[in-house]
Amino acid sequence: MRVVIVGAGSAIPYMEMAQTCILVEEKGCKILVDAGIGAYLKLAQIGFDLSEIKAILLTHNHLDHNGDVLAILKARWLSGVKEELLIHGPAGTSNHFESLLEAYPYLRRKLSFRILEGKREIEIEDFKIRTIPTKHSVESNGYMIDEKLIISGDTSPVKEIFEKRCKLLIHELSLPFGFESDDHTTPESIVELLRDAKAEKIVFIHLYPQVYGMLDRVMKYLKEYNQNITVAKDGDVFEV
Ligand SMILES: [Zn+2]
Ligand SMILES: [Zn+2]
Repeated sequence: MRVVIVGAGSAIPYMEMAQTCILVEEKGCKILVDAGIGAYLKLAQIGFDLSEIKAILLTHNHLDHNGDVLAILKARWLSGVKEELLIHGPAGTSNHFESLLEAYPYLRRKLSFRILEGKREIEIEDFKIRTIPTKHSVESNGYMIDEKLIISGDTSPVKEIFEKRCKLLIHELSLPFGFESDDHTTPESIVELLRDAKAEKIVFIHLYPQVYGMLDRVMKYLKEYNQNITVAKDGDVFEV
C-alpha cells in the first residue's frame, strides 16, 4: 500500500501546505481520505489523474477537509468522467452535499457521485475499511484501511485509535502546549496514549502554525513517550 501525504496542512495557512488530503493506493485502486482546499492543485502537481479516484472518505465536513471535493467532482464532469465517485462521510454528509447543490444548482445532474454516510464498514475494490468514532466539534470518524493504516482526522485523542495494531497511524496535532481542548489534540493530551500506542509508526499532520513555532520542543517532549513519531509535509510518501 502506498500512502501519499497530498496535504498536511490545517485551516490556518502555513508555508505552502495544502489542507488535509491523503492518497491511498493499492493494486492500482486509488482513494482519498479528505480533500481540503489546495488538495486539488497538489494532486495536479504530482501528476495525478482525477479520473482515477474511486472514492473520497471524509473524516468530517469541515472546509479544511472537504473544501476541494466539489472542485474534483466538477473537474471530473468537465473531463467527461462518467464513473460515479463514491463519497463516504459521517452522519450528515448527504445533507451537506445536498445543500451544496442547492447553492450551485447548475451542478445538479452534472456531477457524478454517490454518498454513503455513517457506515461501520466499507469495501472499495480490495480495500477493507472500518470507521473509528472520533471526538471533534462536529460528527466525525477516523478510518482504518486494510488493518494497516489508520487516519484520525480532527479529534482529541481517542483510546480506540491507539489500541489498534497497525503499520502507520496518521494523526492530527493541531494545538501547541498549554491548550485545553475537547476536539483537537495537544502534546499534553496525547502522551498517555502515545506511550502505549500499538502503531509501528506515527505521523503527525494538521499542525497549527503555533505548533511549528515550537516544533523542536514538542517533538522532544513527545519522543520521551514514543520514539516512532515524525511530522509529515506535503508530498511525503509511505510504503505500508
Ligand atoms: Zn481540520
Ligand atoms: Zn475539523
